[in-house]
Amino acid sequence: MMKTNRAASLDIQHVRQVFGSTLAVDDVSLAVRPGETVCLLGHSGCGKTTLLRVVAGLERPTSGKVILDGREVAGPGVFVPPEQRGVGLMFQDYALFPHLTILENVMFGLARLSGAKARAIAEASLSRVGLVKYASDYPHMLSGGEQQRVALARALAPQPGILLMDEPFSNLDQRMRERIREETMGLLHEKDATALVVTHDPVEAMMIADLIVLMRGGRIVQTGTPEELYERPVSLFAARFFCDLNEIEGQARDGRVETPLGSFAAPADAPNGRCVVCVRTTSLHIVPPEEADVVGVVIRRRFLGDSDLITARVDGLIAPLILKALPGVASTLSETIGVRVTHGQALVFALGGDSLNSA
Ligand code: ATP
Repeated sequence: MMKTNRAASLDIQHVRQVFGSTLAVDDVSLAVRPGETVCLLGHSGCGKTTLLRVVAGLERPTSGKVILDGREVAGPGVFVPPEQRGVGLMFQDYALFPHLTILENVMFGLARLSGAKARAIAEASLSRVGLVKYASDYPHMLSGGEQQRVALARALAPQPGILLMDEPFSNLDQRMRERIREETMGLLHEKDATALVVTHDPVEAMMIADLIVLMRGGRIVQTGTPEELYERPVSLFAARFFCDLNEIEGQARDGRVETPLGSFAAPADAPNGRCVVCVRTTSLHIVPPEEADVVGVVIRRRFLGDSDLITARVDGLIAPLILKALPGVASTLSETIGVRVTHGQALVFALGGDSLNSA
């Protein structure tokens, strides 16, 4: 089995990256422990790729420091080029060289070793991803998933202290994506490798990350485990990122927000003021009307296989409620349903002067 030299730690300190008038990364600090998988998550343009490129050494930060395994690789007056950082890179387009065989592609990052040694390591690396039989084929002869595994073998062959991956699974169709993702993460865990992974997909981040770093506008919004981000998002933006929500605006008075769905505790930092109560689609349950917090009328039902997505109009609410129910629980349009809310799972945020859409 291949073994990393040593899983590296990564310390990003107050990194800023400016391109002309664009502040792509704005004072980001982050500590990654050896062996951890950390996901940089956010919408397009939030700066996650730029941050990864700064760590890789493909960008020189405007200010701030990058420390890899205790060694400053970028900072005032310091810049270690990518090939001397001990990082493995894997990007979404795999970037295999079309004119090189699969084995030669994997050997590419091992140029410092003798031919025989590089070949042995590349073969072992290919074998680990189950592709040694394609060693003398060319990239175009392999499927997208196989090419992705070659890219992984190539990135891991030099035994990098940290693997940097930018949307590594996004070019694959869904079935292949899940399989390659599982394989890749299994391999990383087996080797106890440190990984920094860019993704825009919250489900993917929750599946692979020990720690998720949610970014927006070049800044970190929240850092935490998947559970922390899902259960305790710090803002409406973070909450929206992780699940489908019903958002009900209300006014907090004396620490409570009254809504047509019932009364909710207002956030401690805003006992009085405009609030939004967020109720997940999975926190609403269809019950007999006499047991319900509220009654509604079904105006739409979409069959999702293992659940139905029900849209119901409720008196007093501007937007209809959307909830997930077991298939067939509410099946007819215009049917009156009772809805009960799991109050403990609701999230309540104060709204400043901002509109909901910018929260
Ligand atoms: P995506 O998921 O779309 O790749 P991202 O979150 O990775 O987005 P970045 O690619 O890091 O975002 O870009 C952050 C911001 O910096 C964007 O506004 C982008 O246009 C800008 N930017 C990135 N690279 C450059 C560059 N080389 N020159 C100028 N602007 C850049």
